[in-house]
Amino acid sequence: MTSIAANLQAVRARITAACIAAGRATESVQLLAVSKTWPAALVREAAAAGQRAFGENYVQEAVAKAAELRDFALEWHFIGPLQSNKSRLVAENFSWVHSVERLKIAERLAAQRPADLPPLQVCLQVNISGEASKSGCAPEQCIDLAAAIGKLPGLRLRGLMAIPEPTADGARQRRQFALLRQTQEAINRGLGISLDTLSMGMSDDLEAAIMEGATIVRIGTAIFGKRETTT
Ligand SMILES: *Cc1c(COP(=O)(O)O)cnc(C)c1O
Repeated sequence: MTSIAANLQAVRARITAACIAAGRATESVQLLAVSKTWPAALVREAAAAGQRAFGENYVQEAVAKAAELRDFALEWHFIGPLQSNKSRLVAENFSWVHSVERLKIAERLAAQRPADLPPLQVCLQVNISGEASKSGCAPEQCIDLAAAIGKLPGLRLRGLMAIPEPTADGARQRRQFALLRQTQEAINRGLGISLDTLSMGMSDDLEAAIMEGATIVRIGTAIFGKRETTT
């Protein structure tokens, strides 16, 4: 077994254990393998070990890898900061975008999504730590943004995504993830809709995220190893 296959197995075991601890079905949590900065050859190893969904932060890098890996039916998720001038490549090449934080970007994605593809699956990125420097819309603004995005053709709003402040304190991790869940509940109540996706939890805090209702965990380091860059 390759080390990536072994790492994937270990991450899946962590997800299963966390689901059991949380009283949730294992299938209720999807593993998104975050392959940013890693070459296509390593993504291929993960794909050969059965992994289907991959997360990327850099548009051109992801498009090149997807082209090299056409022989697998992979699902690509864009999870990084999204600039207007990259939106067309994202609309044309990805199944999901987790990092929508402004209506302008959503409108561009909607206009640029090719008609022959299924709707682009979208999560709103929420700034749950309240730090001005962090990406994401403020929790109290999310409901208006969700209402506006929900009306756009070519997109399907699925839920919320957050990158919490890193902390080793498990209780603190859970409070941040709970805030994202509560924000989603408030949107669903307020708009009478049923967003079903909470994209939260990374290599160091997936257990806390699953306890608070994560449906997609985004895992890079625990599968592929430590990245050179700190993005
Ligand atoms: C890099 C990244 C991840 C993966 O983080 P790890 O700690 O390596 O698991 C998850 N989500 C986003 C948005 C990222 O940029």
